[in-house]
Amino acid sequence: MLPLNATHDPQLTSWVGSANDGNGDFPIQNLPHGIFRRKGSGQAWRGGVAIGDQIVDMAAAVGAGVFTGDALPVARAAAEPTLNHLMSLGPKPLSLLRAALSKALQTGSKQEATLQPCLVAQSQAEYTVPARIGDYTDFYTSVHHATNIGRLFRPDSPLMPNYKWIPIGYHGRASSVIVSGQDFHRPRGQVKAPDAEAPVLKPSARMDIELELGVFIGQSNALGDAVALDDAESHIFGLALFNDWSARDIQPWEYQPLGPFLAKNFASTVAPWVVTMEALAPYRVPFTRPAADPQPLPYLASEAHSAGGGFDIQLEALIETTKMRQAQSAPVRLALTNYRHAYWSAAQMLAHHTVNGCNLQAGDLLGTGTLSGPTLDAACALIELTAGGKNPIHLPNGEVRTWVEDGDAILLRGWCEKPGAARIGFGDCSATVLPAKP
Ligand code: MN
Repeated sequence: MLPLNATHDPQLTSWVGSANDGNGDFPIQNLPHGIFRRKGSGQAWRGGVAIGDQIVDMAAAVGAGVFTGDALPVARAAAEPTLNHLMSLGPKPLSLLRAALSKALQTGSKQEATLQPCLVAQSQAEYTVPARIGDYTDFYTSVHHATNIGRLFRPDSPLMPNYKWIPIGYHGRASSVIVSGQDFHRPRGQVKAPDAEAPVLKPSARMDIELELGVFIGQSNALGDAVALDDAESHIFGLALFNDWSARDIQPWEYQPLGPFLAKNFASTVAPWVVTMEALAPYRVPFTRPAADPQPLPYLASEAHSAGGGFDIQLEALIETTKMRQAQSAPVRLALTNYRHAYWSAAQMLAHHTVNGCNLQAGDLLGTGTLSGPTLDAACALIELTAGGKNPIHLPNGEVRTWVEDGDAILLRGWCEKPGAARIGFGDCSATVLPAKP
């Protein structure tokens, strides 16, 4: 686990004024990585680091001579068209780059004049998926979500007997992970009503969201080598907001016996910014489970993990309907939860994923699963919030929603704050559902 250092100092400010307002996502203590270019320019994609409402164009900064010594090759990796190479380097080189960026961006830095021309306003940027994702695995780490969903799909046995022993997951589809801002069409699929004799092919009428965190893998493990729990975080590059869109009417008909398939692989939206594990270090919390529950097998447990394997990350899902957009009214909150409620941690997901020797590679993506908390207002999918469609949600403008309708945008936000540390955030993760293609 990475120690706190000078880059976490809450007193640090930046000569980029917008980084210092205390409420933004990207103060100098955050420094998340992403891939961007100037909007509409057709320029090559390249790496950037968010600071305030600006982006440090890493290729330009390298060219301007901002980085020297051991930080230079790392900065070059951070400028590439995908983050895979940077991710593969592991925590130490990454930490060197973070220290160099922190120094160059802080108030009074001698590098201000050199770095200033390397900034691009976020309002003038467009983004792509931050890494070439080789594989995507989606987990199911909220016991509250698993219980709520299980109650709807299997009233007699909501929580399967393996749940508290195994971090449950399935292999998802990497090619349909899309970046925030990319809209997509409502999927079609086979749907069978309980009383119908045969299924029909139709656009999904039960479009749902899943508020998750995406875990980007950093350095790889060789095929055959399991990663120990206490080493697991050194294989994690960072976290990003993630919306695992789900078609709830396609899911029940197809999911047995081999698990989710077309209900889940038509689109999953990832935020453009990946917040590094080092940036998250101040927000660690203990990670334990009730004493009455079965305790994890030894490969999924350690003292260090119990003491600080969790992260205090606030997570919010909001909706903006077409009517709200036309009226220019603010998006409305659907759910507010916290990553600390997860039953399995990111490190446990990784240790379990590799225990059989499975090789995770830099840029692979693990989804945490829907991060519902213990109360209904912390339920992070509409299927839970509406009790399977029975209790529609009444929005302040009089509209009613049971599922996501055409034209609705779903926006995810995430942030960390605590006394004695800076507030950092994850940027926006949003997409609008377009009508099914004719
Ligand atoms: Mn999911």
